Amino acid sequence: MMNGVADRTDLKGMTLPELTEFLGRWGKERFRARQLSRWIYQRFADDFAGMTDLSKEFRGLLAASCRISGPPAERVETSADGTEKYLFRLEDGEAVESVLIPDDGRRTLCISSQVGCALECGFCATGAGGFRRNMTSAEIVHQPFFAAKRFAGRGERLSNVVFMGMGEPLLNVPEVSRAIEILLSQFGFGLSGKRVTVSTAGIVPEMLQLAQRYPVSFAVSINAARDDIRSLLMPINRKYPLRELVAEMKRIPLQSGRKVTAEYVLLAGVNDSPEDARALSRLLRGARIKVNLIPFNPHEGSPYIPPPPETASRFRDLLLAAGIQTITRERRGADIRAACGQLRGAAAGKRG
Ligand code: SAH
Repeated sequence: MMNGVADRTDLKGMTLPELTEFLGRWGKERFRARQLSRWIYQRFADDFAGMTDLSKEFRGLLAASCRISGPPAERVETSADGTEKYLFRLEDGEAVESVLIPDDGRRTLCISSQVGCALECGFCATGAGGFRRNMTSAEIVHQPFFAAKRFAGRGERLSNVVFMGMGEPLLNVPEVSRAIEILLSQFGFGLSGKRVTVSTAGIVPEMLQLAQRYPVSFAVSINAARDDIRSLLMPINRKYPLRELVAEMKRIPLQSGRKVTAEYVLLAGVNDSPEDARALSRLLRGARIKVNLIPFNPHEGSPYIPPPPETASRFRDLLLAAGIQTITRERRGADIRAACGQLRGAAAGKRG
């Protein structure tokens, strides 16, 4: 008897131990889970029929009671600079977006971890749309699945994944952890921890735990070097103020030569003065932290504007002079509203 699609067990989003346990209940050997995991995350299978190294009988059993969720993106937009934005319709009608950024040989996918976001950072379009729900690990890993499948068709690979799309990954730790396991697994996407970055607004109690469990890279959205300004921009600062946040960033275990990234969105007249740059240098002095300056990407309903380029370079130069490694993130995909802080899939509304 064929079950209805929704009753079938979704194999996408299961970690290898979960898949092993699930197949074990049917008396299947451990290596079967590794085989299936490879079919899904390395050969991008959407169904079981083509899994030719599994017996016909086993394929029949899988087809009758399991599924591999996730349709192709509902909309793909391509920017003049090669950036691509994908809109994924989820099974309950919600929508999320991911952005693929090609950059000399690297292909970085910026993925979402929640539908909407509860943090209400004043400069972010996702925050303005409010929080809808957490994404499941299946929904999270479907984003790199789709992108990697799309690129495999052109003989290219997905090289990096950053949790910098919609949502706060550290407010969805269980599902984000399962997704990270799949991204890092040699039977999954096989990415090294260097190439997977978790970006957080600073959910202090979750940071160290995740960093100790997975060797992923960490980015923290600092955005201000003073508590009064940061609390204004990011209400979460009232709960986890800068001193605690920076202390926690310094505790993140790092392999040699690696650093935690401090992201800093430059907002004209708000956090871009020379005094702000000096306060930031003092805050980060002596720590293994590098700064990623992000020019603000405007969106409707936001009162902020980006500083003129001279102000941004002066800010950068002051950090460099203080011995802090600093790069300015290039603005990509703005013409398709794919730049940092412009994603608002949920606000695109439900279909039908
Ligand atoms: N919640 C996580 C991940 C999503 S935001 C976090 O806060 O880190 C990813 C990055 O985009 C953050 O550094 C955030 O400060 C930045 N950002 C948000 N809105 C932006 C905008 N309009 N322009 C530029 N950067 C923005």
